[in-house]
Amino acid sequence: MNCELCGKKIGKPSTVEIEGSTLQVCQDCSRHGKEVFDSDKGGVSKDEIMKRIQRKKEAYSSTRNQGGKKELALDYSDRIKEARIGMSLNQEDLAKEVHEKKSVVAKLEKGDLRPSDDLIKKLESTLHIELMEEYQKPKTTSVKSGKGLTIGDLIKEAQ
Ligand SMILES: [Zn+2]
Repeated sequence: MNCELCGKKIGKPSTVEIEGSTLQVCQDCSRHGKEVFDSDKGGVSKDEIMKRIQRKKEAYSSTRNQGGKKELALDYSDRIKEARIGMSLNQEDLAKEVHEKKSVVAKLEKGDLRPSDDLIKKLESTLHIELMEEYQKPKTTSVKSGKGLTIGDLIKEAQ
């Protein structure tokens, strides 16, 4: 291993950043640049990790916010239970209809179990309900363009 700056033979190189490029250099030359952590050794700086996490979060939330995406309704357990009772079925009857165990139905109605896509379809067709709904974007107070908000509007909004 030779220093990438002065070419001197080095045993243990330092990784430094000099004018935007990362170089493996000797101890003497490392003083000319800013020392960076070698990611190959797992020594990624905490800042870099936080940045990566942030990027992942953003990527995740942007896919979730795409319109038209359906997901399991938050109150799926109530919907199942109400529809079942509405059809005068007990948990065992419903379990038979969807080819599941009674305990599965009980867990679904308690919200302890998320139904699989397959089971959702079976429940929907058996109970004639919708368990999937459009992903709801978190409500934000938006100022309507073109119209000035008065203090009265803001008070109404706050109530
Ligand atoms: Zn050097």
